[in-house]
Amino acid sequence: MSTQPLTIVIVGGVAGGASAATRARRMNEGARIILLEKDPYVSFANCGMPYYVGGEIADRAKLIVASAAFLERRFRIDVRTGQVATAIDRAARTVTVLNVSDGSKYTLSYDRLVLAPGARPFKPPIDGVDAENVFTLRNLADMDAIKTLLDKQAPRQAVVVGAGFIGLEMVEQLHRVGVHVDLVEARPQVLPLLDPEMAHAVQEALEQKGIGLHLGQPLAGFAREGGRVTAVRLPDGKTITTDLVVLGMGVRPSSELAEAAGLALSPARAIRVNRQGQTSDAAVYAVGDAAESVSGVSGQPGLVPLAGPANRAGRIAGGNAAIDGGAETGTVLGTAIVRVFDVTAGMTGLSMEAARRQGFEARAVIVEANHHAGYFPGAQRMLLKLVYAAADGRLLGAQAVGGDGVDKRIDVVATAMHFRGTVADLAELDLAYAPPFGSAKDPVHMAAFAATNELDGWVAFLQPDANLRDLQRVDVRTDGEVAAGMEPGAIHVPLDDLRERLGELDGTRPTAVLCRSGLRAWVASRILRQHGFTDVKVLTGGMVMRGHARAAGMVADD
Ligand code: FAD
Repeated sequence: MSTQPLTIVIVGGVAGGASAATRARRMNEGARIILLEKDPYVSFANCGMPYYVGGEIADRAKLIVASAAFLERRFRIDVRTGQVATAIDRAARTVTVLNVSDGSKYTLSYDRLVLAPGARPFKPPIDGVDAENVFTLRNLADMDAIKTLLDKQAPRQAVVVGAGFIGLEMVEQLHRVGVHVDLVEARPQVLPLLDPEMAHAVQEALEQKGIGLHLGQPLAGFAREGGRVTAVRLPDGKTITTDLVVLGMGVRPSSELAEAAGLALSPARAIRVNRQGQTSDAAVYAVGDAAESVSGVSGQPGLVPLAGPANRAGRIAGGNAAIDGGAETGTVLGTAIVRVFDVTAGMTGLSMEAARRQGFEARAVIVEANHHAGYFPGAQRMLLKLVYAAADGRLLGAQAVGGDGVDKRIDVVATAMHFRGTVADLAELDLAYAPPFGSAKDPVHMAAFAATNELDGWVAFLQPDANLRDLQRVDVRTDGEVAAGMEPGAIHVPLDDLRERLGELDGTRPTAVLCRSGLRAWVASRILRQHGFTDVKVLTGGMVMRGHARAAGMVADD
């Protein structure tokens, strides 16, 4: 038996790499563990960087989750910063390493190799993209560069390109330090992973803060003066003058090293891995933004560049590498959340659009509910959308937009989805309740009740963008509510008068019932159906979501 200790080399020292290294040590005290990181820092909080830029996190040192010295002291990990892995020789089991400080090269032998090189921000091939005031945000050097410009040049205007999670965080934080921000997005909505009507609720929060929104406008070019960009050009001919540009246009997996070593990649150029985290070479593991993960909804491999999956996969792969273990990485739902000023948007699994694109026969309900008991001070409204399979009610995804409590609902649904739960399961969940925290019927329950009612045939839903033109539209809101406007052609019968005024309606016509959020319309639909109306549907999410859908350009019947 060999007396040589197992050597584990890890490439990339942040979320996935540091998790792999520390887990490897916990599983194998005798292993030699070498952590290579090309930048000066390991284990820093990428996710906290926007908040340091905006001053919400004041102390930069707080972003260093575990220093190299700490990893060396507590875990006896040989941390080598400023060292770039430049090539892998799989036959010889060696990695070539470039020492950034002096340009020298050396080779390291490994028994097990863990690749955690992350991803790099997409930069469009546009003249000016490398100008000194055009930034991406991936590491502390990027962050410091943005912060320095803010501190030294006191810019007045900024353009953020890309309305995904990082883009929106940067919009919020730049606005926080007094910079006027314009947001440019190629898609016609913010947060393209959300369905458009849900995303519109976030868009409103941006508009209320005076953010200049340029949606459906792919970045067309930059105007330059010397080394600086002075304006951003849009396809509609508009030019936005600016003092700085932040690109948040998504990331691409850093898989070149793996590709050059002949490891299998996916069509999206992510490193292919099995459930143990092994690449097409069993001695080489890959985790994080550079590697594939398996969708908990479709069971298909895909790319989900988020911190949670990277940390968990790092932990599993690091442990497996240390003991040749067979632990499996979990599936990934893409659960994510972002704060945009006073609004929080969260999601898990698939949007309705994504579910249909992936071939699911999907249904959806949207409810509006308070995050805790309405009578308890400080209740905040929340929109919650559930997407589920038409055949059996299996949960496919959820989206929530509101204030406090969005995180809890999304996490509850994500947990149910992890166990392949259905809307019926959600309806039965026994959740903690007291007035400051929730409601006896939580928003999760209310959405699940609606979905189970639909699956059981007690109600049929129309989506917020439905074409209502040929339907008898019955608005059951109060006089005061409809004073502000109704759907074109709607008949107004307040819910409490409905039984007495049934004669004003045609029970043979297909009918859509409308209210503010869908709850009273559901009650009305039960009255109508039990009085012989044969075809009655409820507008899910009510006029609140109709308004968002119309403003998002989804409603075609006006
Ligand atoms: P990284 O954490 O990027 O680490 C990869 C490391 O590998 C890098 O430090 C890199 O320098 C190093 N490296 C690359 N190639 C080599 C090489 N050849 N040799 C040596 N070293 C190399 N996710 C969330 O879930 N929630 C959030 O709120 C969130 N916010 C974010 C905010 C920002 C600004 C950013 C940039 C990301 C955010 N993310 C968030 C995403 C999350 O940070 C990533 O998914 C996660 O860091 C991926 O981990 P990783 O280990 O794969 O890559």
